[in-house]
Amino acid sequence: MATIQIDSLRKEFENDEAGSIVAVEDVDLTVEDGEFLVLVGPSGCGKTTTLRCVAGLEDVTSGAIRFGDRDVTDLQAREREVAMVFQNYALYPHMNVRKNLGFGLKLSSGLSSAGIRERVDDVAEMLGIGDLLGKKPKELSGGQQQRVALGRAIIREPAVFLMDEPLSNLDAKLRAEMRTELQELQHELGVTTMYVTHDQTEAMAMGHRIAVMNDGTLQQVGTPEAVYRSPTNEFVANFIGSPSINLLTADVDGGTLTGPAGFEYALEDATPVAGHDRVRVGIRPEDIRPVNADGNEAEASVVEPMGNENFLYMGMGDLELTARIANDLRPAPGETVRFEVDEAALYLFDVATGEALKTMTDETDVAVGEYTTTGGE
Ligand code: ATP
Repeated sequence: MATIQIDSLRKEFENDEAGSIVAVEDVDLTVEDGEFLVLVGPSGCGKTTTLRCVAGLEDVTSGAIRFGDRDVTDLQAREREVAMVFQNYALYPHMNVRKNLGFGLKLSSGLSSAGIRERVDDVAEMLGIGDLLGKKPKELSGGQQQRVALGRAIIREPAVFLMDEPLSNLDAKLRAEMRTELQELQHELGVTTMYVTHDQTEAMAMGHRIAVMNDGTLQQVGTPEAVYRSPTNEFVANFIGSPSINLLTADVDGGTLTGPAGFEYALEDATPVAGHDRVRVGIRPEDIRPVNADGNEAEASVVEPMGNENFLYMGMGDLELTARIANDLRPAPGETVRFEVDEAALYLFDVATGEALKTMTDETDVAVGEYTTTGGE
């Protein structure tokens, strides 16, 4: 087992038409021994490139990669003892599952045929694919193929697992199941794992810690809760969380924030906005608390029932707001909804840099409030 240490990683691609592209810049990141770290960010942010540099599938432009105390920066992929699982499972189509699982071992280990057979049986049992060993990949469902691909990674007992969107070809239900299975498996094996996804829900659900990337650079590394509640900047706040955080620009006058369409908020503690004429205000959908009197006013447009709660979409002038409200609240389209937000739950960001000025400062519950619907117009 090993830590993965990435120091000042930079990867530039030469591109004839556009000159060179810096895909990854100045990334410092340590994945602890046995940790499940998820690298997450929008398409093109450099996650796959980072992972491929760790795997040894790309040369780094500058920087270093270490596994434990071993500097692997200049080692070939096959010398690094990594196992990689990709989105396309890359199984050998002409080989049955047993051969797919055992093939890598045959090449890389000194095991006898009987030894390989035994390891294949063990791994197949661990993944619940023992009855599929005689089948070819095309006879398997997506989920089964994914298990075989995982098995092929596990069987080599690698020092490090690297996974690039391994679940994205599966349907939603299977993906959720495989998420849990993968976490259990990783826990059982205790192998240091780097997992790439663009799906923040998956990242939040799976990662011990998550590393958020944007535009080639690392934005924040932390536990899912820390990244959600204390984002370092507006990008992270906006990227993490579903539905997304509501964001608006407000003028600052002392402790009063004034936004579009009459949005007003009186801060008890104006310290975070001191020296700012304008700020970006962030409000998580679950922190919008409908109330009967006072509060800001918005106009309900759509209610989406989720069963356990409702998503309420509402407008304040041009501003679209999303609120997560109790499942028995169902404002009609056009109905005026008044709402409050606890100051502890308010996020504030610098207009120019996006840097967080204030994040969530206290435990806050999902908003319920004492609002009753009036039936609308
Ligand atoms: P996605 O989720 O879409 O796979 P990503 O975050 O994994 O995105 P990368 O694949 O790492 O992003 O790409 C980062 C940037 O580097 C992109 O601008 C991409 O076009 C560029 N890039 C990646 N590979 C190459 C390459 N081989 N040659 C040139 N440019 C590349």
